[in-house]
Amino acid sequence: MLPTHQGSFRLFRLAGVTVFLHWSWFLVAYYGISQRTSEYSSMVWNAAEYVALFVIVLMHEFGHSLACRQVGGRADQIVLWPLGGVAYVAPPHRPGATLWSIAAGPLVNLVLFPLLSLAVLAGRSLGWPEAWPDVYTLLLSLWFINLGLLVFNLLPVYPLDGGQILRSLLWFVVGPARSLMAAAVIGMVGVVGLIGLAIWGRSIWLGILAVFILLNCGRGLIQARAMARMEAARRREGYVCPVCRTVPPTGDFWRCGQCQKPFDLFGTGGVCPHCGTEYTAYPCLECGSVLPLVQWQSSGGGSPGGWPEGSTPPRL
Ligand SMILES: [Zn+2]
Ligand SMILES: [Zn+2]
Ligand SMILES: [Zn+2]
Repeated sequence: MLPTHQGSFRLFRLAGVTVFLHWSWFLVAYYGISQRTSEYSSMVWNAAEYVALFVIVLMHEFGHSLACRQVGGRADQIVLWPLGGVAYVAPPHRPGATLWSIAAGPLVNLVLFPLLSLAVLAGRSLGWPEAWPDVYTLLLSLWFINLGLLVFNLLPVYPLDGGQILRSLLWFVVGPARSLMAAAVIGMVGVVGLIGLAIWGRSIWLGILAVFILLNCGRGLIQARAMARMEAARRREGYVCPVCRTVPPTGDFWRCGQCQKPFDLFGTGGVCPHCGTEYTAYPCLECGSVLPLVQWQSSGGGSPGGWPEGSTPPRL
């Protein structure tokens, strides 16, 4: 559903975040640049505008990543693809930390807005429209692009930033599960509007986006239902996740990687009752950390905040 760094190549690493570029970006970039009716004197400026768009997108994604790391979450990857950028952020499972990790993205565009406005005004008063029309046109496009990104990202449609901000705010009031459910439902209403807009504007891009949002809202609903079920479950006394401090639930909430059947990982001592597969690392259902049992014992041990090496949780 989201691009992973498979099919992407590494661009660079900055502040602990590795930036990847998905191969499809080049196809769409080529198409996008060549199809544009040029307001510039040469195609090179079209390309420059396209690249500048992604520089702004990248700054936005770095906003998410750095904010997430600031509140103690994990964020070490950004993938750029034709629809924009995806910052892989896993903030601590708290509404405040989540809100800050999400809001910091659009905040970058909000900060860029007066800066770009000043640059446009300065350029105009210095006579750039006549002296350097290409530079001025580029600057003006960047002003529009940044504003467009800001407005788009504030739409309260899950999983766009605005929808996730709404979800985090609701989380303070009604908890993680019901807030996600509400945001996903509102997102689906938004999709209907978006589909209408796509048909009216005959925009393939909006159509693709609508499908993408719809899939994510559907997944959000499923996730919210699972979370509600888990919230209602009794807690397993004596264990706590050393990373997010969540006490694991009692019940068949883990799925065996061998036989695919659900079972109670902590209740069975890490042995699947259906096929006998033994597990030595226990994943947290809340934050995804995978840790050996000793680190789960609430009486002590374990290093709080420690993320497991490799960071890809084995499927259970
Ligand atoms: Zn964002
Ligand atoms: Zn956890
Ligand atoms: Zn099994």
